[in-house]
Amino acid sequence: MDPHPTLPHKGGGKIKGGVACAERRESDLVTGVPSTDLEHAARLVRRARRGVAFTGAGVSAESGIRTFRGQDGLWKQYDPFKTASLQHFLRDPTIYWTVSRERWHTYQQAQPNPGHHALAALEAAGHLAGVVTQNTDGLHRQAGTQHLVELHGSGRTVRCLDCGGIEPRAEVQARLGREMPPICRVCGQRRLKPMVIFFGESLPPSAIAEAFELARACDLMLVVGSTLQVYPAAEVPRVAVELGAPLVVVNDEPTPIDVEAAVVLQGRSGEILPALQAMITAGG
Ligand code: NAD
Ligand code: ZN
Repeated sequence: MDPHPTLPHKGGGKIKGGVACAERRESDLVTGVPSTDLEHAARLVRRARRGVAFTGAGVSAESGIRTFRGQDGLWKQYDPFKTASLQHFLRDPTIYWTVSRERWHTYQQAQPNPGHHALAALEAAGHLAGVVTQNTDGLHRQAGTQHLVELHGSGRTVRCLDCGGIEPRAEVQARLGREMPPICRVCGQRRLKPMVIFFGESLPPSAIAEAFELARACDLMLVVGSTLQVYPAAEVPRVAVELGAPLVVVNDEPTPIDVEAAVVLQGRSGEILPALQAMITAGG
């Protein structure tokens, strides 16, 4: 498997091998026309004992953090190759830091929304074994998710590529007005990089292994707020589906994996997930 995240590419090969782990009932068999019924989704989540939520930027949209793609996506404004690829960052970190400086206030002030809280509650209730996220905003942790796999790292910390020194992102922000790009306090070099995975970088092997382990063992895959266009992360839900786990998708626009889903709930995750969780709680 390609260990590097890549820019948008559709599809993704079938994953071979493995043992189907999901308990599957006739009513869950995918017919190519997914249900749009909240009660159906609630039944699937309610009976899950080791479900996994796979989340993307959409789950944080209602916390005020813009997504990359989708209708109001950042990539309509910025070029992803120039802003968030390792190749361009190494050539000139200024482009990244100029965009990041503007966005930081929103990031820092963002709070978990009802969608993050609902996922934490589903984990606490024993339906989800954990959350695998592509997000770097830390909001799942803030909402109380215990078993969290951050595939693309965290934007709250910055590391010097020359000396390895680590600094909180907030401290770097404080001097961006006079230093662009920022200078390392330890070695004086100008290659400070947030501890997020850029396009062209390898994902942390431990995070990717943990994510696939959860996906292989899960009895439900809940995809929330992702276009599923960034690889290899987007393979995580595909592995679960290939091994027979029922799939529920919550997104405000169609996704490439909808055809594999038992249920597709189109709309805002900050509204749908709490409604789903309330229905599950009410059902005992
Ligand atoms: P994406 O931007 O490609 O897709 C987000 C999807 O969520 C879109 O389909 C969009 O229509 C949908 N969406 C928007 N608002 C929604 C809402 N309220 N409810 C439900 N769905 C909603 O995001 P991605 O698939 O995560 O991949 C892009 C990369 O973006 C990831 O690697 C991630 O690291 C990075 N990213 C992270 C953040 C963050 O940490 N919050 C923000 C932007 C991008
Ligand atoms: Zn340094």
